[in-house]
Amino acid sequence: TRILGIEGTAWAASAAVYDSTADDVFIESDAYEPESGGIHPREAAEHMHDAIPRVVESALKYARETADRPAGDPQVDAVAFSQGPGLGPCLRIVGTAARALSQALDVPLVGVNHMVAHLEIGRHSSGFDSPVCLNASGANAHLLAYRNGRYRVLGETMDTGVGNAIDKFTRHVGWSHPGGPKVEAAAEDGEYVDLPYVVKGMDFSFSGIMSAAKQAHDEGVPVEDICFSLQENIFGMLTEVAERALSLTGSNELVLGGGVGQNDRLREMLAEMCAQRGADFHAPEPRFLRDNAGMIAVLGAKMYDAGDTLDLEESRVDPNYRPDQVPVTWRARSER
Ligand code: ATP
Repeated sequence: TRILGIEGTAWAASAAVYDSTADDVFIESDAYEPESGGIHPREAAEHMHDAIPRVVESALKYARETADRPAGDPQVDAVAFSQGPGLGPCLRIVGTAARALSQALDVPLVGVNHMVAHLEIGRHSSGFDSPVCLNASGANAHLLAYRNGRYRVLGETMDTGVGNAIDKFTRHVGWSHPGGPKVEAAAEDGEYVDLPYVVKGMDFSFSGIMSAAKQAHDEGVPVEDICFSLQENIFGMLTEVAERALSLTGSNELVLGGGVGQNDRLREMLAEMCAQRGADFHAPEPRFLRDNAGMIAVLGAKMYDAGDTLDLEESRVDPNYRPDQVPVTWRARSER
């Protein structure tokens, strides 16, 4: 199976071609970089409008060059796209592009939940059977596990996503977007200062720690110390809840998803926690952690193989599309 994947939920205009026989993924991405502040939905949508045709053209060129199909045939079996969750104005542009391509190429359309794709790419690359997944991305933070045909949300943030929380602090400090890598670099020279740590059962909250971090900065606490402590507390919270999710489900496999998963300290904490429990931990390579169309194409192929394609009327995008709304059609029937 060969799938064209298109991603465009927030900042990454991305297209990919996934060939399941060769397990080969080609990804072409074009990132939106705000001139100031964080992501402006309208500017991000303008970026999608400009960049999606370019990245799709590169992906289709790759598909033509590597194809073993007659030149006149569509070089892919379906078009998969990020149907949500994400910024409405961005999603609508990507949805329109995907519908147009599916009609032009005369191939089916596959609607992919972006958060389930963040999870499934880790399950795919780890070979794990039924892992717990920690999605640590910009706009989201939650723990998922599979049960009775759905990915259930075991725990999640009660306010902002984890990356967005970090980015709000760095915006306050005057650093450019995205803030995560800058916090990671500054944390290397920091020492611990006290900041809030909020876990309630399986859920967690970042708003208190963010306000406290901004206030500490205004009061002259060295920024390196704040960055160090932000990482220790925020990633400690995620690790604590991930451990509880493993214990609750009885699973001994954890996969990491989302752009914040590129952070070495987070990976180190999760790996250490898993090692202590005798569980296996897998973090996909960075190009599959941050938003990318590769993960959309890989899950799109599994859905296509399961016959899970969309009629035009069902192809409307959903900015609030939750992972537990997705019927999991692509796992072996015995598992469902
Ligand atoms: P979502 O997938 O929820 O729609 P998103 O579209 O914002 O989120 P991702 O690519 O998953 O995108 O994550 C982007 C976030 O990752 C940004 O908030 C960025 O600051 C953060 N990030 C990137 N690298 C690092 C890092 N090394 N450490 C911490 N955070 C990081």
